[in-house]
Amino acid sequence: MPNIEHHFSNLGDKFYSPTHATAIANPHWVIRNANLAKELKLDLFDEHAETFLSAFSGAQPLSTSKPLAMVYSGHQFGQYVSQLGDGRGLLLGEIETENDRFDLHLKGAGPTPYSRMGDGRAVLRSSIREYLAGEALHALGIASTRSLCLTSGELSVWREQQEPAAMLVRVAKSHVRFGSFEYFHYTKQYEQVKQLADFCIDHYYPDSANQTSAERYAHFFEQVIKKTALMIAQWQAYGFAHGVMNTDNMSIVGETFDFGPYGFLDDYDPSFICNHSDHSGRYAFEAQPSIGLWNLHALGQSLSSLLNEEQIKVALNHYQPHLIASYSAHMRAKLGWLQAHDEDQTLVSDLLQLMHGTKADFCRTFRQLSSVATDDRQHPLRDSFVDRDGFDQWLARYQQRLKKELRSDAERQSAMNAVNPKYILRNYLAQQAISQAEQGDYTELERLATVLSQPFAEQTQYEDYAKPPPDWGKRISVSCSS
Ligand code: AMP
Ligand code: MG
Repeated sequence: MPNIEHHFSNLGDKFYSPTHATAIANPHWVIRNANLAKELKLDLFDEHAETFLSAFSGAQPLSTSKPLAMVYSGHQFGQYVSQLGDGRGLLLGEIETENDRFDLHLKGAGPTPYSRMGDGRAVLRSSIREYLAGEALHALGIASTRSLCLTSGELSVWREQQEPAAMLVRVAKSHVRFGSFEYFHYTKQYEQVKQLADFCIDHYYPDSANQTSAERYAHFFEQVIKKTALMIAQWQAYGFAHGVMNTDNMSIVGETFDFGPYGFLDDYDPSFICNHSDHSGRYAFEAQPSIGLWNLHALGQSLSSLLNEEQIKVALNHYQPHLIASYSAHMRAKLGWLQAHDEDQTLVSDLLQLMHGTKADFCRTFRQLSSVATDDRQHPLRDSFVDRDGFDQWLARYQQRLKKELRSDAERQSAMNAVNPKYILRNYLAQQAISQAEQGDYTELERLATVLSQPFAEQTQYEDYAKPPPDWGKRISVSCSS
């Protein structure tokens, strides 16, 4: 049996409620992540497969786990909700690998003291979406929670209709959220705010432990700010819209966390709103950087028993420059530039503007740009732009810019292909896998997970997965109920 540790549990019962999972009857595997299982040294396939199936469908907990529901609160769509907590998920404990330690969390495990009106369950549809998104982002190099496996069985739950339920084993560096701090701050449990901050420093931010005691928490907050800025810069550079950036869905370690109605951009539209309940566009794609800052302000406020106003302000001032520097570096890499030049920012924004005007496919446009040769007169990409002349003019400026680089076209092309994915998790691809899975056939899910695990490689047998979405596939609206 895996050696599961209980560092979070050792914080004491102010931080959680011990809770047992409620089983899904007659369980089976939907999908198992062989690579991650291997990294974690969990034998999901052979001798212990039945034991794990039983644990991860809620029937019989692993003898070494101590399941608990964490308490937190958070700002949801800007409004403070004084108590949330794990209403349908349980932290099973932490598992150590050679150089790291990860939380194991069972999502969809049944009611907990924090379930409020909910049933404690997760539907198969959204569990598949979470499984795929975490793996897709991870393969793109974006910090994200991951998924070890999905189970299902004889259980259906009511959303807008009757739907099959599932359980997902989430693997994350941490399940501490911005909202975890908010809960203790707004209930005036300042000793617990400190205890939680110390826990985060000990486990995730050891550099902050080397600071003077006056600087310790400011340094911690600054590191959270930088990690969050990097994560959001990458979302923007790869066209990922999270959809529900409530503070309870913001991880303290800057991992993409809690997948609901997220979406990867098909057509480039900065005002894209993936969550159909987000009527004001609070969490629109282009709003993510400023919402990140809003959420960090909320976190800063909840650390105000440890930090003075000036420290909070100084730390928050790091956010924007850090995000812009990360985003610029990613965009430079996407365009094949090694050095930074003055005209870069204008070239990037002019390209995005042309793409927006034409509704160009975000992922395919960048991938195709890698095949531009420095002395081509034209490039076939022009035909996907409504403003072909505008594209030609931009191309000429881009080529001038490329001449300042010292790499050959071939070297640049392979560098660009290593950062511009060929395969992304388009909504319609997920939808196809879900429809089949709901009929009990998981082959498409397996195949899609395989394709997405190597987003930058040319996988010739999977050429169809790199095509633009069909028209029906662009208009899938994702329900918030999951
Ligand atoms: P989410 O929208 O998934 O980030 O969840 C927000 C809050 O609602 C969290 O406290 C969840 O645990 C809780 N929640 C979401 N769905 C359910 C459910 N089906 N049953 C119980 N609690 C839920
Ligand atoms: Mg959540």
